[in-house]
Amino acid sequence: MQYDVIVIGSGPGGYVAAIRAAQLGLKTACIEKYSTFGGTCLNVGCIPSKALLDSSEHYYNASHTFKTHGINLDNLSVDLTQMMKRKTEVVAKNTSGITFLFKKNKIDSYQGVGSFKDKNTVVITKADGTTQEITGTNVIIATGSKPSSLPFIKIDKKRIITSTEALTLTEIPKHLILIGGGVIGLELGSVYARLGAKVSVIEFMDSIIPTMDKSLGKELQKVMQKQGVEFYLGHKVTGATTKGKEVSVTFDSPTGEKKELKGDYCLVAVGRIAYTDGLGLDKIGLAVEERGRKVAVNDHLETSVKGVYAIGDVIRGAMLAHKAEDEGTLVAETIAGQKPHINYNLIPGVVYTWPEVAAVGQTEEQLKEAGVKYKTGSFPFRASGRAVASGDLDGFVKVLADAATDEILGVHIIGPRAADMIAEAVISMEFRASAEDVSRASHAHPTYTEAFREACLAATDNRPIHI
Ligand code: FAD
Ligand code: NAD
Repeated sequence: MQYDVIVIGSGPGGYVAAIRAAQLGLKTACIEKYSTFGGTCLNVGCIPSKALLDSSEHYYNASHTFKTHGINLDNLSVDLTQMMKRKTEVVAKNTSGITFLFKKNKIDSYQGVGSFKDKNTVVITKADGTTQEITGTNVIIATGSKPSSLPFIKIDKKRIITSTEALTLTEIPKHLILIGGGVIGLELGSVYARLGAKVSVIEFMDSIIPTMDKSLGKELQKVMQKQGVEFYLGHKVTGATTKGKEVSVTFDSPTGEKKELKGDYCLVAVGRIAYTDGLGLDKIGLAVEERGRKVAVNDHLETSVKGVYAIGDVIRGAMLAHKAEDEGTLVAETIAGQKPHINYNLIPGVVYTWPEVAAVGQTEEQLKEAGVKYKTGSFPFRASGRAVASGDLDGFVKVLADAATDEILGVHIIGPRAADMIAEAVISMEFRASAEDVSRASHAHPTYTEAFREACLAATDNRPIHI
């Protein structure tokens, strides 16, 4: 078969690239080695984790906050089997949605491992060992990433686990030890803490979610501590071993003190590495970068081999589903002769804990380091009528604006529905709004988004109304 575009991998990068290419009239194929489409995101990432976060949040609210709303429940219990079954159904609905979209857009899909024979020929090796070759004028590598570990830790997938296993546990851990206080650790740690597990987080840096604005990590840590999670910051893990059902994790404190925690599960969440195994990159003269094993690309996301592009987790930048999607669209449109653009500064980051954390643009630390003169405006959710009504009082919105022009440079939110609220900040910044622009736009009352308007008022000339 001869195609205009062959996409290898069907995650949010690959399937969006395939759909956009087909929309643009290009004859398109997508190869996926797993039995379902959707990649990490739909199968073992964004979607199942959010399903479990939603379920566990319902349980947490039923057991902790319903009483204050005048709702009394007797004999509340968790049915983990049902919770996991629902999660599996949610995943199936999403992955079958991609099958439908591929058919609708007349995309040919192939199941098997895609491997380069040459820059225009991809060999597909199916599960039964049989092979098939297809050719394409352009090939998009969208093979994603896999969990990384520490060299001295052996992931046994039973007691010392990655996010993939943490999404399918058959019992609620008694004591879950997390190595890494990043996004995965805090999201999956929240799931099991809400269901009753003791959760301990060991983080190498001196704050959790260390790449985000420091104020967010500080506030999130405070709230999660109230939820019962314990933190060891600035601690260096030195080993993790299992004995029967027990896991032991050893680590050093910032002052060199030797420590040990014993639990029944240890989740290693120290980042992910690009996945290129079996792709046959050497056949087309492509090498991966030493660090992170990423495929190098230029501004058009084309590799050093003409007509071979790469997108998503397998290339530089944030490992986020929406970043992969945007890159899929960009490459499809580039191949079709358009001149698309991505503003990488405006890709939002979200952590789906409760309260949620969401941010876009520059952090205060980055502005300081770059010597940019900026103004800050903050507004706490405890002063928001909507948040008081729902009882979600933790957190704040922080707006950073240019000291001279008032242009919004960064928005950092921790609070209820922050994941949805951040879209207003992204759009405002895409149109290069000033804080005053946002504060002059009407915001429905009562909504959480009023807190963004108030933070903008505070940033513009320190005149919030409700504090
Ligand atoms: P992937 O989704 O990894 O897809 C790559 C696909 O390529 C896979 O299906 C793989 O099987 C296939 N493949 C690989 N090699 C071959 C080959 N040789 N032949 C054929 N097929 C191949 N991001 C967010 O933005 N929001 C979230 O809430 C979020 N939550 C997450 C939660 C967890 C637990 C994890 C692990 C990740 C989460 N992420 C989230 C990150 C997100 O999943 C990734 O950034 C995203 O999936 C990357 O998309 P991708 O298309 O680059 O690769
Ligand atoms: P991460 O980079 O978010 O966090 C890893 C954490 O581990 C960091 O805080 C790091 O300092 C810490 N760490 C590294 N080495 C350590 C060590 N030796 N001891 C203790 N701590 C150590 O990575 P992750 O949480 O594994 O997530 C992987 C990727 O998946 C991320 O890039 C993220 O963008 C993506 N993801 C996104 C979402 C979301 O968007 N909501 C959710 C889950 C995952």
